Amino acid sequence: MDRFREKTCIVTGGARGIGAAIATRLGTEGCTVAIFDIDEQAGKYRQRELEKNDIKAVFYKVDVASEEMVRQAVEDFYAKHGRIDILVNNAGIGFSGKSIEEQTLEEWRRIIDTNLTGTWLCTKHVVTYMKKTGGVIINIASTRAFQSEPNTEPYSASKGGIIALSHALAVSLAKYHIRVISISPGWVDTSHWQVPPRQPQLTPLDHEWHPAGRVGKPEDIAALVAFLASDDAQWMTGTNITIDGGVTTKMFYPD
Ligand code: NAD
Repeated sequence: MDRFREKTCIVTGGARGIGAAIATRLGTEGCTVAIFDIDEQAGKYRQRELEKNDIKAVFYKVDVASEEMVRQAVEDFYAKHGRIDILVNNAGIGFSGKSIEEQTLEEWRRIIDTNLTGTWLCTKHVVTYMKKTGGVIINIASTRAFQSEPNTEPYSASKGGIIALSHALAVSLAKYHIRVISISPGWVDTSHWQVPPRQPQLTPLDHEWHPAGRVGKPEDIAALVAFLASDDAQWMTGTNITIDGGVTTKMFYPD
């Protein structure tokens, strides 16, 4: 398929994991890809992998929580390609699992800065250029924004913030023909998309627990991103899409 020929995208956190699968999928469909990632080694590796598949790709070492790094990278990518059609705010970090009393302000700030402020910063700087042509912004949240186990507060709050930020942006940016959508994935096994790739450590129970019969793959999320970024989804904006193999709709009873 050729849905993104002549188009360009920025995928944050695209060096590995879900972001790498998204970059690969958009690139395979003709998009020129910029990976913004804090991990230089993984980022350079991913750029080479994309190029091996005849995808036009460039890597920028960017900490999405740094306004200056974001501003410079967006400016440079636009100067070289003259358009930014798709932004996928995917870069994110997890949580320590410590109780609220043990969580530190430093941990809280690091997670909020990367996941939520990073999404806001990349959007802010991309919109300057995207509003010239219109485009699509897809923000990766999580089912943990609305479903919890104990001790995930900074992460859950950052992801809930991403969902709220996304619908606010959708309303503000509609006049520029920019659509904004958040995606909330459930459990996705990223082993194959790590640098270097790893063997999955999943048990049969991990798969069976999902109504769909398996844990998610980064390719599942990438396929949804490609649909949402395409013209087939042109009437979709402001919404949040859950993709979780059915876990959040399943009723659980005590054993
Ligand atoms: P991952 O750790 O495999 O990859 C994350 C990427 O983001 C890495 O390449 C990392 O270097 C990059 N990154 C981290 N901090 C950064 C920063 N400050 N600036 C730029 N890049 C940075 O993670 P993943 O599992 O692929 O997750 C990707 C996104 O999906 C995250 O936002 C995560 O919260 C979300 N998510 C993941 C799952 C899951 O089960 N894997 C489920 C729901 C949501």
